[in-house]
Amino acid sequence: MPTQASDLSREVLETHEMMSLPVDPFAIAGIEEIELAPGKYTDGFDARIEFIPEATRFAIYYRPPGSGRPRGRVNFSIAHELGHFYLPHHREQLLRGEMHNSTSNFRSAAEQEREADEFAANLLMPRDLFIAEVGRFRQRVCTLNELSELSSERLGTSLTSTVRRYCQCDIEPCIAVFSRNGVVQWAMPSADMKVMGMGYVPFKEPVPRDSKTREAFQTDEVGTAVDGRVMATTWFENPAVECVWEDVIILGRTGFAITLLTPDE
Ligand SMILES: [Zn+2]
Repeated sequence: MPTQASDLSREVLETHEMMSLPVDPFAIAGIEEIELAPGKYTDGFDARIEFIPEATRFAIYYRPPGSGRPRGRVNFSIAHELGHFYLPHHREQLLRGEMHNSTSNFRSAAEQEREADEFAANLLMPRDLFIAEVGRFRQRVCTLNELSELSSERLGTSLTSTVRRYCQCDIEPCIAVFSRNGVVQWAMPSADMKVMGMGYVPFKEPVPRDSKTREAFQTDEVGTAVDGRVMATTWFENPAVECVWEDVIILGRTGFAITLLTPDE
């Protein structure tokens, strides 16, 4: 279902004749004469766009690649800030001098962040181009390692955003589960996976006891990748299949893991 954010990202790419991969969000910022201000910021900071009234232009402050931020993540952050620039109600707030992250209404702030993320994912990975790219890369479906290679070699995107997009685009029945220190943070199912009764994993709960993800967290190695077949009931209450293939990557030393579950028959 196209949304304002996805329609708008498409319009931006078409207007600037940039409808091809990889998409360079820095080039788009340049065309829009947005000032790019890299700097040494505190660890929790990724990027922020502001309107500078004196200069009558926008500026994006950001942590550049290499300063503890991989290029894919920086690209996503810039694309996210471009979402605040292009989405009309976000831009109005910026022009009024309200920073998008200082909105007092938490729900509307969270909603705006979600919209900007959606804009960014659609801008960097337009649906049809993304599906075609996956098809060219690995005969239609991908493992996490292959998505990792695709994101860094071809798309210039983060693994997290690429895996989310892979599920959103319904390329195969699958669900991505993102966990930290063994606790589920969020999950993104494909539409087909929901139909098969495997579209929901409870948040804020420990990853299942007999899962490969639990196993991966228990090993101390950095960059651990574990995969294997598990009973579908390990993860889901009423799955339509008996087994799922579980593919897990632990991301560096951050305590984050991405799990990709697909039906295995
Ligand atoms: Zn934001």
